[in-house]
Amino acid sequence: MKDTVLVHLMHFPVYALGPGTRAGLWFQGCTLRCRGCVTPESWSFDPKSSVPVPDVIEGLRAFFRTEPPPDGLTISGGEPFDQPDALFGILRAARELGVRDVLAYSGYRAEALLESYPQLPQLLSALVDGPFERGNRTDSVWKGSLNQRLVLFDGDFRERYEAWEQSPKRKMQLIGMDDGRKLLIGIPRQEDVFRLKNPFFCDGSGGRQWN
Ligand code: SF4
Repeated sequence: MKDTVLVHLMHFPVYALGPGTRAGLWFQGCTLRCRGCVTPESWSFDPKSSVPVPDVIEGLRAFFRTEPPPDGLTISGGEPFDQPDALFGILRAARELGVRDVLAYSGYRAEALLESYPQLPQLLSALVDGPFERGNRTDSVWKGSLNQRLVLFDGDFRERYEAWEQSPKRKMQLIGMDDGRKLLIGIPRQEDVFRLKNPFFCDGSGGRQWN
């Protein structure tokens, strides 16, 4: 396992990215560079974002020790699969911590990921796949563009993810950082994002600062 990972953000509780109340881990760095991505600041593989993987695992352990514990873990970015060694180390550690529901967002298609990583269904309960497509609008609250799909790997969570997939309620969450910055978590409608002067979050992935 690679011993460091570039991290954009870790946060708990997350209400606006996945079903229930979750822990969130956003990777820093994305090679896909989708046109219209509203978080270009999450693209750079900025060494200043480097965190030892054991520290990330310890952070997750702390999140999942809270009472009540999170309903699950959401992994997003940036592009998590652009750091596969660290990602899979963290996914395996999450399983060892007893985290059963892990949702990942990726700009890669599920078919390509499964070809490269056939072990994925053992480590994820669900995946939202595909690049963000500007102009390909959707009313679904869990994705940024119509082309993106929810792929369920763990049938035990079928009901939970079907309810989330069909939810008419779009949730956005404003969080304050220790340094005074504010971040918005969630997936805005495309028409709302592009009306905003300072848009924040993309396909349910990383976050943009809101000063
Ligand atoms: S939308 Fe997601 S996958 Fe696409 S460029 Fe932005 S961070 Fe990368």
